[in-house]
Amino acid sequence: MSKRDYYDILGVSKSSSADEIKKAYRKLAIKFHPDKNPDDKSAEDKFKEAAEAYEILSNPEKKQRYDHYGHAGVGGASGGGGGYGGGGMNMEDIFSQFGDIFGGGGGGGSPFDSFFGGGQQSRGGRRVAKGSNLRIKVKLTLEEIANGAEKKIKVNKQIVCKTCDGSGAKDKSSVSTCKTCGGSGSVRRVTNTILGQMQTTSTCPTCNGSGSQITAKCNSCHGEGTVRGEETITINIPAGVSDGMQLSMSGKGNAAPNGGIPGDLIILIEETPHETLKREGNNIVYDLHVSIVDAALGYSAEVPTIDGKAKIKIEPGTQSGKLLRLKGKGIPEVNSYHRGDQIIHVNIWTPKALSSEERALLEKLRDSPNFKPQPGKNDKSFFEKMKEYFE
Ligand SMILES: [Zn+2]
Ligand SMILES: [Zn+2]
Repeated sequence: MSKRDYYDILGVSKSSSADEIKKAYRKLAIKFHPDKNPDDKSAEDKFKEAAEAYEILSNPEKKQRYDHYGHAGVGGASGGGGGYGGGGMNMEDIFSQFGDIFGGGGGGGSPFDSFFGGGQQSRGGRRVAKGSNLRIKVKLTLEEIANGAEKKIKVNKQIVCKTCDGSGAKDKSSVSTCKTCGGSGSVRRVTNTILGQMQTTSTCPTCNGSGSQITAKCNSCHGEGTVRGEETITINIPAGVSDGMQLSMSGKGNAAPNGGIPGDLIILIEETPHETLKREGNNIVYDLHVSIVDAALGYSAEVPTIDGKAKIKIEPGTQSGKLLRLKGKGIPEVNSYHRGDQIIHVNIWTPKALSSEERALLEKLRDSPNFKPQPGKNDKSFFEKMKEYFE
């Protein structure tokens, strides 16, 4: 056990707050972390020393005893955990502290994620199995995306075995406490590493961390606790999702044996392209083709929208490239009341073939003054118009 003063090790004082102590330790833990200091025995010692100091000073009861009696007050008998004693803390104990120090109990955010391993959560020593995540693709039409959709999807996945209720055992009498680990789910051993002798804790190889042993296996699942099965899952997809977006439903993935935590269902959104409507963010763009005659005389055009057909007025003298807007006929933003617009891009249709009659009519109009192009100096360019509509 270290003889150095715990307050000196962390560089804090007796009056420092719990938060200050935590911050001080976090700094040292990152600085002296073995990953950052490979083959450095003194960093390793400092790392352990800081962890030990934090272990005491972060616990109000231990801190008080240390304040009164010094190292003797916190020496042999440590309350609770049991993972502390003898020659200080072992590495696994130190790393398991990190869940509290760096936030996210084994999840994201911690710079030491690798130490927590995937697929298991180790709270209080015993390993809890976690089912794997399940990924599915859901195809949605533009209409479904605009309105939100409820999809009932049949998925093939691991489900809890009904015969044994997930235990994997034939009956109650065929479950006994694991002899290797005595029910704790983990075994300790001393190993020689490049950093010297270290005590490590690992998952019990006999029971795989469950703490119990099965003498006779369930006939339905052959001891696995889960079986392959089908489940119909109702997925509520909010309006406004887009292609490539992933939604996740926690607990709807593969089941885990022994009352473990089921994995998540990851839903990948796939947008089926619409025949005539194109999506631009939350706006819908539609290319309307108008004959020269309709553009000159004006008319009421019928356009498709995601809510069905709509009428839009084409004013007499409408130029090609004009953008018209149907407000609120676009895609809603996810979790918002705001909805995009439908933008109608007017294309004047020039006839590609003419009958002799049509040709004769147009020949008459060729030299008619109103048929000569007269672009205005202040007419906006295509890009200016696009900017106006999309920004
Ligand atoms: Zn065991
Ligand atoms: Zn079973």
